[in-house]
Amino acid sequence: MADDGEWWVFSEKPGLLAELIGGAQALAAQTGGEVAAIVFGPRPEAEQAAARGADRVLWLGEPAPDQLVDEIVPSLAQLAAARRPRAILIGATRRGKAVAGRLAARLNLSAITDVKELAYEEGSLRARHLIFGGGAVRVEQPRAELLLATAGQGIFEALPARAGGPAEIVPAPFVDPGWRLKLRERKERPISQVNLNAARRVVCAGRGVARQEDLALLEDLARALGAEIACTRPLAEGLNWLPRERYIGVSGANIHPDLYFGVGVSGQVQHTVGMSESRVVAAVNKDRNAPIFQQADYAVVGDLYALVPELIKALKGRK
Ligand SMILES: Cc1cc2nc3c(=O)[nH]c(=O)nc-3n(C[C@H](O)[C@H](O)[C@H](O)COP(=O)(O)OP(=O)(O)OC[C@H]3O[C@@H](n4cnc5c(N)ncnc54)[C@H](O)[C@@H]3O)c2cc1C
Repeated sequence: MADDGEWWVFSEKPGLLAELIGGAQALAAQTGGEVAAIVFGPRPEAEQAAARGADRVLWLGEPAPDQLVDEIVPSLAQLAAARRPRAILIGATRRGKAVAGRLAARLNLSAITDVKELAYEEGSLRARHLIFGGGAVRVEQPRAELLLATAGQGIFEALPARAGGPAEIVPAPFVDPGWRLKLRERKERPISQVNLNAARRVVCAGRGVARQEDLALLEDLARALGAEIACTRPLAEGLNWLPRERYIGVSGANIHPDLYFGVGVSGQVQHTVGMSESRVVAAVNKDRNAPIFQQADYAVVGDLYALVPELIKALKGRK
């Protein structure tokens, strides 16, 4: 069990947790050990993690309505001291990053953030991860016994549901952090159920779209192409025109579709690291020097308001 080296995975988002379980299982298959999912949520969440291929679920119980994910840090630290896992992979959400940072401080480790790839090479674990806000990739060989890392959506592949044998769900003690954030207000945020990782075609709206209502044009294009609509960060954070689940990049989703179609996207590196594995890249931009064109297989220089309606017409005409 613990001595064989457990690969721990944690995310408060069940979909991302399933991906981390898949990634950890791939590493465990190469080097041995078992995958333990940490769950701080209702019992069905623990059962879901078991069904997505964890060998074991360490269940910290169900949080009270005013409890935040961040409060699990002391529990994780105590559990890590007792079970001495090989690695702790944490989903790189806002909350997940806060947990990773606090846990690293408690365990006197450094956290390897924004992992793009984890693999065994020449007998040791190597992590390729983004630094400088996605501006560069660093390859690190962790020297500490325990690897602590964060990875976002789309880095690892989830296993099919009900993969593996039935996992045991082990209740783990919740350690009171001794501090409490005060919950003042809860606001509903529309949650998008989109899974950009699974999309084969993606139309990505950028800041070149002048008004929120103009997104309808890109939605038309997406429909004509059978594509999902996505965006750059400013449209999802700041303008709030589309939900956060729809933005691509270092702090958003990593996608690998057959077609990425960027419309009014400049192609800053923080965005392109999330779409650089697309099979075919097409882009429309009125600036011929836009960096997105360096990645594009099909580069169209022009005004999106003139080009996109023509394209939709042509696509519809073909059907
Ligand atoms: C730490 C950090 C993390 C970040 N993470 C992310 C991330 O995960 N994802 C992300 O997307 N960004 C991220 N960013 C922001 C990123 O640096 C860029 O600012 C952002 O990607 C730019 O979005 P954009 O291309 O839509 O806008 P802009 O850079 O403003 O580009 C708009 C483009 O539209 C073109 N255009 C304008 N009008 C038209 C028209 N009518 N027709 C055709 N083209 C037109 C312009 O020529 C321009 O190239 C991050 C930044 C930092 C500092």
